[in-house]
Amino acid sequence: MTQDRVVAISSGGLDSTTMVWDLVVNHDTYVHMIGFDYGQRHRRELLAARKTAELLNTRFDLIDLGNLSIFLAESGSSLVSSMDDVPEGHYAEDNMKKTVVPNRNMMMLSIAGAIAVATDATAVYTGVHAGDHFVYPDCRPQFIDLVSRALTVGNEGFGNFGELAIQAPFMHSSKADIALLAMELGYDLRNTWSCYNGGETHCGRCGTCVERLEVVAEAKVRYRNIYQHNYAGPDVQYADTEYWKRVVADANQG
Ligand SMILES: [Zn+2]
Repeated sequence: MTQDRVVAISSGGLDSTTMVWDLVVNHDTYVHMIGFDYGQRHRRELLAARKTAELLNTRFDLIDLGNLSIFLAESGSSLVSSMDDVPEGHYAEDNMKKTVVPNRNMMMLSIAGAIAVATDATAVYTGVHAGDHFVYPDCRPQFIDLVSRALTVGNEGFGNFGELAIQAPFMHSSKADIALLAMELGYDLRNTWSCYNGGETHCGRCGTCVERLEVVAEAKVRYRNIYQHNYAGPDVQYADTEYWKRVVADANQG
């Protein structure tokens, strides 16, 4: 039997990196990793994606949409505008809407879909998860389902899509589920990048840093309960290691 070949949108973050490791290690899939430069200030996440591709001996291609940031910045999205600070605090708060990039997933899924059709890949994989639904409308199941159907209809008679053009294996998983899977896979979490600020170390204060700190802590507890020993792997370094605890406690009270 020939190995299944898929295209995976790979940001270098915890979710897509775990998805790619899982596909390669647990599902014997050939993964063509695709990263996007859309002018994000945390562009260094793409170095993490490239590192993962090296470690897994698989292909990584960077799609350069850098010019788009001129227009995307008009939205006031702090991820692509150097004028606006990345919001700090809990990731489910209203101010996190400032991190929405207009139509980002549609663009990425569409381009990855073209590459998939051109290379006879059976699906496009995306690491969107249930926790994304609060903030990002283009991560919701109904959107992913519609784009999946559009890709199938729009490429009828071409390519090699399976039953679903888009596969989102974490659609109904929490980010803590993903962090636990990452620990079980045993890859080095330092080869991922989450912080929206894109500085030298993770800031520990932006929404995605707070989210990552919270879910990794939760996953460590679950890991210990399942395996009766502590997860021993290292994680990325944070400039502020305490802020998240206050934010999460406030969010849980609120
Ligand atoms: Zn951060």
